[in-house]
Amino acid sequence: MDQQQIDTFRAQPVSAFSHLIDGKHVPASDGGTMDIISPIDGQVLTTTAKGTTADMEAAIASARAAFEDGRWAGQPPAARKKVLLKWADLIEANALELAVLGVRDNGTEIGMAIKAEPGSAAGTIRYYAEALDKIYGEIAPTSSDILGMIHKEPVGVVGAIIPWNFPMMIGAWKLGPALAMGNSVVLKPSETASLSLMRMCELALEAGLPSGVLNAVTGEGKVVGEAMGLSMDVDVIVFTGSGGTGRRLMEYAARSNMKRVYLELGGKSPNIVFADAPNLDEAAQVAAGGIFRNSGQVCVAGSRLLVEASIHDDFVAAVAKATVQMRVGDPLSMETHIGAVNSEVQLKANLRFVKTATSEGGKIALGGTQILQETGGYYMEPTIVTGVTRDATLTQKEVFGPVLGVTPFETEAKAIALANATVYGLAGAAWTSNLGRAHRMIRGVRTGVMHINTYGGADGTVPLGGVGQSGNGSDKSLHAIEKYVSLKTAWIKL
Ligand code: ADP
Repeated sequence: MDQQQIDTFRAQPVSAFSHLIDGKHVPASDGGTMDIISPIDGQVLTTTAKGTTADMEAAIASARAAFEDGRWAGQPPAARKKVLLKWADLIEANALELAVLGVRDNGTEIGMAIKAEPGSAAGTIRYYAEALDKIYGEIAPTSSDILGMIHKEPVGVVGAIIPWNFPMMIGAWKLGPALAMGNSVVLKPSETASLSLMRMCELALEAGLPSGVLNAVTGEGKVVGEAMGLSMDVDVIVFTGSGGTGRRLMEYAARSNMKRVYLELGGKSPNIVFADAPNLDEAAQVAAGGIFRNSGQVCVAGSRLLVEASIHDDFVAAVAKATVQMRVGDPLSMETHIGAVNSEVQLKANLRFVKTATSEGGKIALGGTQILQETGGYYMEPTIVTGVTRDATLTQKEVFGPVLGVTPFETEAKAIALANATVYGLAGAAWTSNLGRAHRMIRGVRTGVMHINTYGGADGTVPLGGVGQSGNGSDKSLHAIEKYVSLKTAWIKL
């Protein structure tokens, strides 16, 4: 990757996107389109189809037909594997173009996007392609006159609803295992980050995925997302996004066909630093990166810094020092460490959180304002707020922006109590040289992922899923496959 290549792709006009239904590009049934605004400069980048309920129903019908006639589920595993491996290769071959398109759409800094988006997506698709012919059924330990078999069958039609922070990576977390296990999929990307994911779906068709097996419908969550949620013909919904939408999806399921609903929701992840951390400078650097990369728009972001009181002031100063070295700006410049906030709506919400934090007694140690207004884009200074109490909004509510709240603690028990004082439980970290303490933190902090002496970077070999109101079910690793299969028992009298 070099700057010249990036600039070449950035200069290319982006043609209008339509839905992908039954292997074809299809406009909205009423011809509606949505402007796609680039957060880099606030300008219209292109348009996508503004889907209708009828569009979503057509996509679901196409997926259902594809599933029922076995054009994908009925293929031998080796054939499915070949298509998915080719898809991964195509994503990799087009990686920079996809990454730049995605950044123009959602504002993530290119250094992170190139790895986390096409890089990760290709790796994920390949992982599940390679796994699919290594998943066996089971024989139950029955008495000798019975054969008890447990088959793993595809569930049928999977609805996948994807957010805007890492559309390709999170899209692949759902599409990889869903397609590997033989399901058909209807995908709904986010309104504010759909383009790279739509391109990625086009590449799946190019790789040989039969028509109708993967359909993608753009449009508003409350229209096409709701139509998916209420469908009688979608068997499972997999979702990453906000708690509010997650709650709605469960309601839709209850009101329709009781489809399975798997949710990966927000977090308010505690990054806990003890005075006996092996390297406090490194901890400070990683703490800054762990909240501020991608402008804090990371579900596992370490947005609460809990610091042992004896080192509080020095450690906050070290995090601030590491933070000011991170350059905020044009996400398509390789010099940039922190790109744009995804949308104007999100930027305003972030700024409101800062205002609330100070009104509740928090002190701004760094940042706190919008910057680079002259670009027309949406940029915010990385912000550190100290003196955040247990009940403060900044402890209890996810910002999903570049805002770090800091709270001191005195004892290990108090650190655990503070860490567990929210409704969330997605990720967390503890920094300590004490092995016993590290294990007590792993056991004591209620999260899906607990890091020790690092933050982030857990790869595809381990699951990611939340507890509490951070969700249910896991993405990544072989465990993700459970969401995309049904167990069928065969009980045979011999
Ligand atoms: P955020 O606030 O971070 O954008 P959302 O939960 O609103 O999170 O968005 C995540 C995804 O959920 C997006 O693809 C969005 O279109 C979709 N979505 C939003 N509202 C609904 C809804 N009522 N039903 C189904 N999907 C929705």
